[in-house]
Formats: sequence, structure tokens, C-alpha cells
Amino acid sequence: MLPEKVSLRCPGCGEPWLRPTTLPGRYRCVNCLHRFELRSVCPECGEHSTIVRMASTATTVCNHCGGSMLIAV
Ligand SMILES: [Zn+2]
Ligand SMILES: [Zn+2]
Repeated sequence: MLPEKVSLRCPGCGEPWLRPTTLPGRYRCVNCLHRFELRSVCPECGEHSTIVRMASTATTVCNHCGGSMLIAV
């Protein structure tokens, strides 16, 4: 079930090493080891976003402002 070919970019270090964890909506960067949570509301512009999890590499990007929907946890 894990989409290994999907590489999400880490908002912390900028490297595409973000991997889903066992918790839904949670990701961990295997490069800098920071953990992130995927929000349903954009932290940049406050826009609600319909997120199709793990469907493509664009799942963590806000459709409204293009900002990252990930926040550090
Ligand atoms: Zn990182
Ligand atoms: Zn936004």
C-alpha cells in the first residue's frame, strides 16, 4: 500500500525524502528526521483543501496559494 515511487518534498530541509508513517496524515523526513502533519486547512492562506492522500506528488500542496499543507509536529 505504500507508494514508494511518490517522493514528497520535505518543507524542513527541502529534500524529497518525506515518507508516510503508520499514522494517517503524518509524514517523516528520512533525511532530517523531522516529522510533519498534513493539514486540511492551509497554514499559509487558511484555505480549506480537499486532499486526496497519496494520489500524487501534489497532495501536500495547497490548491489555492501553492503553499505547503504540511506543518512540523
Ligand atoms: Zn527533511
Ligand atoms: Zn494556501
